[in-house]
Amino acid sequence: MGRLKVKPTVTYSSHVESPAVDLASLTLEGLTAFFTSIGEKPFRAKQLYTWVHQRGATSFDEMTDLSKALRETLKAKAVLRVVTKDLEQRSVDGTIKYRWLTHDGKLIESVYMPSPERKTLCVSTQVGCAMGCRFCATATLGLVRHLSPSEIVAQVHAVNREVRKNEGLETLRPLTNLVFMGMGEPLHNFENVKTALELLQSEAGPNFSARHITVSTVGLVPVIERFATETDVKLAISLNASSDEVRDRIMPVNKRWKIADLMEAVKKFPVKQGRRVTFEYVLMNGVNDTDEDAHRLAKLLEGVPAKVNLIQYNENPGLGFNTTGDNRAERFRQILEGADVAAFIRANRGRDIAAACGQLANVDKRTDVPAPAL
Ligand code: SF4
Repeated sequence: MGRLKVKPTVTYSSHVESPAVDLASLTLEGLTAFFTSIGEKPFRAKQLYTWVHQRGATSFDEMTDLSKALRETLKAKAVLRVVTKDLEQRSVDGTIKYRWLTHDGKLIESVYMPSPERKTLCVSTQVGCAMGCRFCATATLGLVRHLSPSEIVAQVHAVNREVRKNEGLETLRPLTNLVFMGMGEPLHNFENVKTALELLQSEAGPNFSARHITVSTVGLVPVIERFATETDVKLAISLNASSDEVRDRIMPVNKRWKIADLMEAVKKFPVKQGRRVTFEYVLMNGVNDTDEDAHRLAKLLEGVPAKVNLIQYNENPGLGFNTTGDNRAERFRQILEGADVAAFIRANRGRDIAAACGQLANVDKRTDVPAPAL
């Protein structure tokens, strides 16, 4: 299968043990090339694609409109990389954190956040993360590996199945919104994220619209430029500081690309009519939450169609950062608002089960037991 030409290129860092091609990572174009290469009619590609990406099938045996002989051929030549549920934790606020097991025994997490208006899933893009943000629990895992496109979309398919079952829904795709803000830095795994977006936005798949998908980055400046031209989904910048001095300290990526570099890249981002770039700003007591920080942040955002999401830090034991209180957070928001910057204090979801921003580290909060070593 190494000779199979598919676009775009998919990186399988962990697939060395198996030469079988992962059909759930292929775009419809790639899947068509695959079926042609094994002497099958191209329309089979659409059939399989619909099974995987619209109906959420996890095995070839479910694909009852493919002949038994073809299903056996597929089993011999290919695989479907799906994720299986390892743990489910429910928050008092309705948030559900899922821990998934990958085919090679790695653990990743995604967080389902239902509200009356929307059903949002926060997905992971890597096992662990290389970015080393000092306040983030995921950073403590280091980077284990990138997730394949199939492993990224499998989280969405699996939660669609869970929501259908739990909430008694008929619709194939109950999820309405996706945010790429789970474990990992999405732009560090850009090729696979881009393919996953193509799968998630395809009409023959779950058909998410671009305005319902947000990808968050700490600011890999050269990749932001690619992201802007090669995708059409929304961008969120995880900023978290108003000065290089503080950002250098809490986010090592800032040593490579300074705030000014980041803002320059963001200013070039073609913001479609009516859409703004979201800036995530985690408020940490005495670190980045002073009046001066708020004024400096407002200045940085001058002329940028921006919206700021303020997140009161979710404390992680051992990392040494404390949260900002409600009054201070509100004061920070008011300063931004006074400078004509749209700013919102974001409700913290799933805090009691460590499902909130920056808390994903494969720990079972009911027992505080970390998962077995990755
Ligand atoms: S905040 Fe995001 S980018 Fe930074 S270490 Fe955590 S997961 Fe990685």
